[in-house]
Amino acid sequence: YQGKRGTADIVVWGGERTRHPTQWLVVQAELRHALDRDELVLFYQPKVSLSDGTICGVEALVRWQHPERGLLPPAEFLPAAEQSGLIEPLTAWVLRRALTDQAAWAAAGRDWTVSVNVSARNLEAADFAGMVEALLAEFGTAPDRLVLEVTETAMVDDRATSMAAIHRLAGRGIGFSMDDFGTGYTSLERLRGVPLVELKIDRTFVATVLEEKENQAIVHAVIALSRGLGCRVTAEGVETAEIADWLAAAGCDEAQGYHYSRPMPWAQISVPIPEEAIR
Ligand code: C2E
Ligand code: MG
Ligand code: MG
Ligand code: MG
Repeated sequence: YQGKRGTADIVVWGGERTRHPTQWLVVQAELRHALDRDELVLFYQPKVSLSDGTICGVEALVRWQHPERGLLPPAEFLPAAEQSGLIEPLTAWVLRRALTDQAAWAAAGRDWTVSVNVSARNLEAADFAGMVEALLAEFGTAPDRLVLEVTETAMVDDRATSMAAIHRLAGRGIGFSMDDFGTGYTSLERLRGVPLVELKIDRTFVATVLEEKENQAIVHAVIALSRGLGCRVTAEGVETAEIADWLAAAGCDEAQGYHYSRPMPWAQISVPIPEEAIR
């Protein structure tokens, strides 16, 4: 980000906890207003089936349409939200928006799943599972149309509340996906206790998979692991057709990345994507 917007202060604006404590307070105060003023925006990135090129779902990715700073990526405000507890109303807003949009797509005949990223702190909140259940009931969403993406570290956390929330929601049919798989600290033994519908291979392995033998071995191993666990496997950060072809040949189920589409606003993703743009 350095230099991208010309001013150095934006580099650390809300993104890093340690360096600018006063800026953090500003971000937190502004974020509180942002929620009230409806300045958050949800973008969506398609998830594409590698076997037939169809869209099977979308991942919701939050942005902040800041009145002065423009469209901010999550890295610039999520750390502040997580630290301040604002992540709870933020996630509630994201879920409500995502389920509203999912219902509109479903009504238009597109039965996409919607994946929502949740933070460790969300799972630790006492009322998280109840909040999700209430939203599903309000929107009449089939539970298996919602997937919650959790990073390894958050998902295999020892905290009893997190695991209880995951098991309660998974028991109702809501999907859980392990995000950025391979970059955290999961011991494989811990995976047994987690009800997963999906493993997402982190894009650090995917980006250079054609050049680096080690990454090929890791991707093959994660695909085999997902088979063993009985869940699907999705590659993130697929930027070229060659990588998509390699992944399809390796047996990967789904892919996301700039090769198919960048995350985009609701109005754009709601327009049918032409077939030739996918494969
Ligand atoms: P993630 O869940 O792993 O999402 C994937 C990130 O990679 C997104 O960045 C996406 O825009 C980017 N990406 C997708 N395809 C490509 C590609 O082909 N190449 C490259 N270089 N990047 C690609 P984004 O939107 O900046 O989000 C970053 C992270 O912020 C997410 O990582 C997720 O952990 C978090 N996040 C986003 N939205 C939310 C949210 O609503 N709630 C929470 N708790 N976290 C969120
Ligand atoms: Mg994700
Ligand atoms: Mg990810
Ligand atoms: Mg990631």
